[in-house]
Amino acid sequence: MTDCLFCKIVAKEIPAEVVLETDRALAFRDINPQAPTHVLVIPKEHHADAAALAEADRGLADEVLKAAHAVAVQEGAAEGGYRIVFNTGAGAGQTVFHVHAHVLGGRDLTWPPG
Ligand code: 5GP
Repeated sequence: MTDCLFCKIVAKEIPAEVVLETDRALAFRDINPQAPTHVLVIPKEHHADAAALAEADRGLADEVLKAAHAVAVQEGAAEGGYRIVFNTGAGAGQTVFHVHAHVLGGRDLTWPPG
């Protein structure tokens, strides 16, 4: 998609600190981290949100989830507990409409989120 921020990161038109890459997924640090580990994991292919991704390609959704867990392990966040969040829709706080999993960890995480 031409006007999508995360498609531009995939195309390397916008720089990002990549921490993991697979054939079909990319993980990079959030520009405004909310925890010591805050990484975004995206499919390279454009899908607007988690619902659209699950509907279009369950295998790709699985790959994104596996990459999210791999990031948590790689970042040392898995042992203490971590969170994978897909904000889905503007009402849930989604601001970038290229599906992304937030991987958050490295500190105590409270529940429920705001
Ligand atoms: P959302 O609010 O859609 O769930 O999450 C979007 C996330 O993308 C936010 O946490 C925001 O900080 C992050 N973000 C926005 N623009 C950029 C950018 O240009 N580079 C990176 N690495 N993260 C970004």
